[in-house]
Amino acid sequence: MGLVTINDLLTERKDRVALYRTWAYGLGEMYEDFVRKDDDDVRFEAGWHGAKARAAGIHASEMSGECRRQVWYSLMGEQREDKELDPFWKKRFRIGHMYHAMVQEDWRRLCEKSNGKMTFESEVRIAPELQEIAAQYDIHSSNDGVICFHEYAGGPPVLRVGLEIKTESPDQFKDLKEPKQMHLRQTCVYMKCLDLPLMWTMYINKGNQNIVPSKPPFTFSFDFDLWNQIEAEMNSVIDFATRNEEPPRKESMGCEFCGYSWVCQPDVLKKKDRREAAKKARAVQQKRLRVIGIGGIRVPKGLNK
Ligand code: SF4
Repeated sequence: MGLVTINDLLTERKDRVALYRTWAYGLGEMYEDFVRKDDDDVRFEAGWHGAKARAAGIHASEMSGECRRQVWYSLMGEQREDKELDPFWKKRFRIGHMYHAMVQEDWRRLCEKSNGKMTFESEVRIAPELQEIAAQYDIHSSNDGVICFHEYAGGPPVLRVGLEIKTESPDQFKDLKEPKQMHLRQTCVYMKCLDLPLMWTMYINKGNQNIVPSKPPFTFSFDFDLWNQIEAEMNSVIDFATRNEEPPRKESMGCEFCGYSWVCQPDVLKKKDRREAAKKARAVQQKRLRVIGIGGIRVPKGLNK
């Protein structure tokens, strides 16, 4: 009995499912209350993996976008590279990792203080050797965490809720009315692999640290239709890989962050490189004109401003 697996959404009594949902919807307030009262000395480890560290195979984050060629590269074991990404973005990603580590540590401590009524597993791995569905599609990923409610201290679980932490800039957070489609797709893969009935996408505002409520639409049930769609897409990528044929590019702004852009060479980035080269050339030319003047005559100091 409980809301522990996806199948429980279909077989558990409706009133019990409704009750367990209300527990999940209370996670946000529970977190705020924990932080309010928290006066512990805290240390935690934070870190990130470089782009090259990824295992070959399908990754949930790559299934979140629209480009299937990216998934194909990953499946074929192509090397990822992102060292040329603008430091502006890299610094943002690093701060995101720091938030993840802090919030995961908060949930670990919060559950530890529940005296066995709640448990938290951080960075729950998804890999072919761990789950049947991951083996079927060669999926490698990890979910930020799984929160478990237990019938009694140390007893069997009665509710399992996935936790996916997302950080947003103040402007993005202000416009956030529901989880982003890309995050719904990513978490759908986690939910299927880890057999999670519910998920909370815990968006955090990086400007003021506000979080979204743990209620709908930010807490949601496993979406059977979305999974069917994702599964069909994965099968299509596997078909391309079997034929050793590249799927078509789906170019977008996301190409700038794609670890395979160095091998894919999308037009959108070539155009961007050309625009940036032209901008640099214009800046050099303007500087030169300020110094020597249009007719090649050196402009006296003080007049070249
Ligand atoms: S660079 Fe763009 S088009 Fe190419 S694989 Fe990556 S996301 Fe797809």
